[in-house]
Amino acid sequence: MTKVLYPGSFDPMTKGHMNIVEQASDLFDEVIIAIMQNPLKKSRLFTLEERMEIIKELYQGMNNVRVISASGAAVDVALLHECKAIIRGFRSLSDYDYEVQLQQMNKEISNNKINTICLFADKEYQFVSSSMVKEVLNLDKNISKYVDQL
Ligand code: ADP
Repeated sequence: MTKVLYPGSFDPMTKGHMNIVEQASDLFDEVIIAIMQNPLKKSRLFTLEERMEIIKELYQGMNNVRVISASGAAVDVALLHECKAIIRGFRSLSDYDYEVQLQQMNKEISNNKINTICLFADKEYQFVSSSMVKEVLNLDKNISKYVDQL
């Protein structure tokens, strides 16, 4: 039984995130979406509780996807839930630098116990990001193309 953790802010969860969850749930026995409380991320659309409610509802029909909220290091959450690896979504080269640093750091702070698997966004989601959605929403424009729940 291979369990993986998909951690992120998901503020909001976009169709790009959902594309990664779909791919991961096809590949692994169980995907745990971990909505992370990140005090360093200031620009917030939803509280942790609101994100939890929205994302749980999105996945209530999928029996190999579980939604949790957590704080602290994603690798500790992965170890706690007996996950083999962390899943990250990869859009384009601009994600590369950050994701490489993150996976190296996660490997180190977990004493090589937690590896990272990158899945690639399908091309229609390559330019979708939570921060862009927040900006479009701020302009009072329709975001239903990028987000399922709003
Ligand atoms: P974080 O604050 O950890 O970066 P995010 O919620 O912004 O959290 O993103 C979580 C993960 O989902 C990251 O690996 C990010 O690269 C990935 N991701 C974000 N948007 C997309 C997208 N449109 N397609 C694929 N992956 C994405």
